[in-house]
Amino acid sequence: MTEAHRAVLAALLVAVLVLLAGCSSTNGIGSLAFADPEPAAVPSEQRPVVSLAFDVAPDLRSATGREDVVVTPDLPTCELVFRATPNKPTAARTGSSLEVTSARVDGAPVAPRTEAAGAPAGSPGALVVLPLSRCVAAGTPVRAELAFSLRLGVDADERVGVSPSTTTAWFGSGFPLLTWVRGEGWTRDPEVTIYGESTTSEDFRLAALDVTAPSDLAVAGAGVAGGASPGPRPGTTTHRFAADALRDVAVAVGRYRMTERTVAAGVRLHLFTPVSGTRVAPDVWVDELDRGLRDTTGLLGAYPYRDLWVAVAPGQSDGTEFPSALQFGDVSFGTLRPLIIHELAHQWFYAAVGNNQGRDPWIDEAFAAWTEKTIVGRGGDDTLASVPPSVAGRLGWSMPQWSGPGFDRYVTGVYTQGAVALTEARRRAGPDRFDAAVRAYVAANAHRVVRVDDVARAFADVPEALDTLRRAGALPPAAGGSR
Ligand SMILES: [Zn+2]
Repeated sequence: MTEAHRAVLAALLVAVLVLLAGCSSTNGIGSLAFADPEPAAVPSEQRPVVSLAFDVAPDLRSATGREDVVVTPDLPTCELVFRATPNKPTAARTGSSLEVTSARVDGAPVAPRTEAAGAPAGSPGALVVLPLSRCVAAGTPVRAELAFSLRLGVDADERVGVSPSTTTAWFGSGFPLLTWVRGEGWTRDPEVTIYGESTTSEDFRLAALDVTAPSDLAVAGAGVAGGASPGPRPGTTTHRFAADALRDVAVAVGRYRMTERTVAAGVRLHLFTPVSGTRVAPDVWVDELDRGLRDTTGLLGAYPYRDLWVAVAPGQSDGTEFPSALQFGDVSFGTLRPLIIHELAHQWFYAAVGNNQGRDPWIDEAFAAWTEKTIVGRGGDDTLASVPPSVAGRLGWSMPQWSGPGFDRYVTGVYTQGAVALTEARRRAGPDRFDAAVRAYVAANAHRVVRVDDVARAFADVPEALDTLRRAGALPPAAGGSR
């Protein structure tokens, strides 16, 4: 994620230097060799079914969209709530927006209601609410059909944007995203003014993702490609994708060179680099993604998807994660390896094991930063005592809490502190035992949105992890408690 990476990198460099200086190596990655197949948790039978269609304008600066969703809430509800991520402050200020232009619920037109939820004045609002004509009992399927318009900020350092000079566009979370969490209901966490992710979404079945674009442009999607067919207008092509279980969708469209290869762990890699060129050659990107997948699957277990879609988004400064898809800035070679490891790690932490990124940003970022530190930085020997007092004990803070102290403190408090807490735990517990617990945590919690007490439960047999996460402020003082 944007900018955050730099501080993590700095911490990693320190760790690498420490290692080179002669510190070795119960923390080393020698133990990463086994990629034991864990029994995979399965997606909920009751997960929403979503069909999405985007029609991208010839100048790539906007798209219109349609979403058809059937959701079966597991609690009574009187409304449907969607997140409009492109309206968050860091995206809205680049000119991006997402507006629902019409909606129907169970066939009847309804007037969408928007809630600012942290979106700036003048933006359509970060939450879109569709009232139901009558409240429904748990287990009642509700169908919603939405039409929306998406605008992409020029050269945005965000998950939605357009780069006119390279004729490329990218949009992740560029549609109304259901905010339901099973057992909890609609999440309404406010967007914040600092960079960072704040979506919360359960897996859904992506019955179809149709992207219509000018025929001379390449299209990257998510899940599995289902071919292309002539679009609704001359000179357009519709590209189809589908997926059994994803919690968000990213798309890239433009003058992209497409490189497709089967890489480590049998993953089908689809790399999209601007035809205008990249700082790192496409072949090097492929090699580093291949190597990164080998390393991450070795540490974390099976990659959760069949395909990996990677698009270089020239406006971005580092990377943004989506299930089975990643966006990267046009980064330099020196940044590439740690950034790839970090973003790949999110395929396990965030994509497979979901979390409320607004309320509990550490649950995915601490594990992603730890993966990066373990594989690239070889763990290091730092302890929680090295965390600056200004952020020490605040690993469990929410995005709104970090909004005041600001982005740099957020990065140190969540990424650095989270990586150090898990690294110290791994050193004390022993890498084999700790890594096995991480893999068991993923296997047991995939296809869910986990809470703090789920993490505590998963590491109940690794008291070293409970101890460091408690001292870092991510877990409550009593083991296995909830908050
Ligand atoms: Zn991250």
